[in-house]
Amino acid sequence: MDITYDKTRALAIKFDREDPLNSFRQRFHIPKDNQGKELLYFCGNSLGLMPNTARKYTDEMFEDWAKFGVEGHTHARHPWLPYHEFLTQSMAQIVGALPSEVVVMNSLTVNLHLLLASFYRPTQNRHKILVEYSPFPSDRFVVRSQIRFHGFDPDSSLLELQPDQGETISTESILEVLEKRGDEIALILIGGVNYYTGQAFDMKTITEAGHAQGCMVGFDLAHAAGNLRLELHDSGMDFAAWCGYKYLNSGPGGLSGVFIHQRHHNLQDIPRLEGWWGQDKESRFLMGPVFNPIPTAEAWQLSNPPILPMATLRASLDIFDEVGMIALRKKSEKLTHYLEFLLSEFKGDTLDIITPEDPAQRGCQLSIQIKDKDKSLYEFLTHNGVIADWREPDVIRVAPVPLYNTFTEVWDFVQLIRHALLSRL
Ligand SMILES: *Cc1c(COP(=O)(O)O)cnc(C)c1O
Repeated sequence: MDITYDKTRALAIKFDREDPLNSFRQRFHIPKDNQGKELLYFCGNSLGLMPNTARKYTDEMFEDWAKFGVEGHTHARHPWLPYHEFLTQSMAQIVGALPSEVVVMNSLTVNLHLLLASFYRPTQNRHKILVEYSPFPSDRFVVRSQIRFHGFDPDSSLLELQPDQGETISTESILEVLEKRGDEIALILIGGVNYYTGQAFDMKTITEAGHAQGCMVGFDLAHAAGNLRLELHDSGMDFAAWCGYKYLNSGPGGLSGVFIHQRHHNLQDIPRLEGWWGQDKESRFLMGPVFNPIPTAEAWQLSNPPILPMATLRASLDIFDEVGMIALRKKSEKLTHYLEFLLSEFKGDTLDIITPEDPAQRGCQLSIQIKDKDKSLYEFLTHNGVIADWREPDVIRVAPVPLYNTFTEVWDFVQLIRHALLSRL
């Protein structure tokens, strides 16, 4: 990156002034402390902030429900019947997919199960699932229970990649595992960005290598959607799912997005758990006994969707439409690199950054490892208005989110670390 840095706050202010996205912060509610001072919120990787328009978009549903009752399905300003379709285009844009490959429905873990019902088809000779090192607990529970559901033993059918570069995993070592054991693996399921280390995986390369071995390949993009520039269609992966409440700011428990590659849409023999919302839209209300799947990812929908969480998601996606992932990612790389630069003076004795340095191998999050596992630095930060999170045994995850965080906030955060560490001496 061709930026000349110094450690003055003036530089952070200058970066903010020059930032073409700096006005987007005003579109969000920034949490404040008891004195009304804005907190340093670096937890958008866990729960994104609330768009100002979220309430307006949900109010619209309440008003239309009061006014129309059941007829809101067709008469509401955004009719409820096709409401999920209002999200598809923006979501497809964010993840680099065709609109027919994307649907918003359910929550993430539920969707992982629905996707595995279709894409995990173990046989006696090929029943293993390959996951990244230390996957998110829910993902581990999903794959273990799916393995058991199919009559296999998770202790032998679950393969977990091992780190070979500190806490992270090189693409070469993944390729090596696939080369050696690919023919035992039915399915690869990897977190596109690992929630703990912040490592981003090379999805296209892994997908191609997995397919060459005859494996199905899917990614959990909970920490990647709205964070990285994704090209899901071109990557060729079979499926993906992500939640809407992290970088996509749809609110607590918000809805999940699903990607199913086009080549799977019209297969007659794909096993799928089905419900009436996957039924062809023309015949759905004829209430007939035969299931005619919508010839898109929408065939995987089960129920008529909840409008309220779709409304809050729509509020956020409208902002993403304005910004675009290209500009967002450009700022993100600069913002995270700036954080990394300011932290570099403490690296070594006190702390380490376990997230890869290569911008292509990470999103906005840096995972700061505290060398002596002493949680007091984290407690000091929390006490002084920082919202980040501590992940056992020794990591503080910090996510400067380009949509609403500033360079000055990053500077102020590192200044607090400086204070804490100096006062320790
Ligand atoms: C956040 C997250 C989840 C959470 O699952 P929910 O079903 O939304 O509660 C699951 N997997 C990963 C990788 C996550 O980061």
